[in-house]
Amino acid sequence: MTEKWSEDPCRQVRENLARIEENILSAAIASGRKRADITLMAVTKTIDPQRINAALDAGVRCIGENRVQEYLEKKDRLHLEGVSKHLIGHLQTNKVRQIVGQVDMIQSVDSIRLAEKISQQALACGLVMPVLWEVNIGREASKSGVDPEALPPMLEAAAQLPGIRVKGLMTVPPAAGTDTEKRKVFSAMYHLFIDIKDKNIDNISMDVLSMGMSGDYRQAVLEGATMLRIGSALFGPRVY
Ligand SMILES: *Cc1c(COP(=O)(O)O)cnc(C)c1O
Repeated sequence: MTEKWSEDPCRQVRENLARIEENILSAAIASGRKRADITLMAVTKTIDPQRINAALDAGVRCIGENRVQEYLEKKDRLHLEGVSKHLIGHLQTNKVRQIVGQVDMIQSVDSIRLAEKISQQALACGLVMPVLWEVNIGREASKSGVDPEALPPMLEAAAQLPGIRVKGLMTVPPAAGTDTEKRKVFSAMYHLFIDIKDKNIDNISMDVLSMGMSGDYRQAVLEGATMLRIGSALFGPRVY
């Protein structure tokens, strides 16, 4: 039997992963950073468990899902031992109860109202939920996240909530733009991250800077991202 390896989706995922790893490593070296300081997240929305498991079996240690329902339906079929699980999509307050306790981090918090709900639910479950605050760095009307200047007062308020710990920032920057423009946006995000870190707000740590997706993760590494959220470059185009 002839082996049609290009049609083997799991092999394709492993090859894509190897190429992504090379790119991350070279961008890390180019910017004097350590590969170990950058986490690769596999973004698994719309992807079937077989291909997600190919990535996990090949060494990916972090996954991100956008939708609560989709994650809950898939998770029991995934090889999740030792894997960090994140919610990265917009979270409605009425879904908070279902997701707290099921993931290790919620990356898409952008209002005190949502943070309060998560905090309440976490306390009810006897845990403290790590979260990232989502920033709309490109100030796009269509995107969730807070404007940069609104961030410090919001984090001061979030620091008072006993059931959450803010661990850093997340952003989905504008999709269009040249490499230089993308780097400028990531750099603005990095400076915001450092400014907040320097404020030393109680209960707020700036450990994670989650930015960079399939089309721009090299630029994100060059500008200081600590977590890359990569979907289509790893799994191929999504079919909705
Ligand atoms: C889908 C998604 C990604 C990954 O996008 P790709 O361009 O496929 O890498 C990253 N972050 C968020 C919030 C997403 O919704």
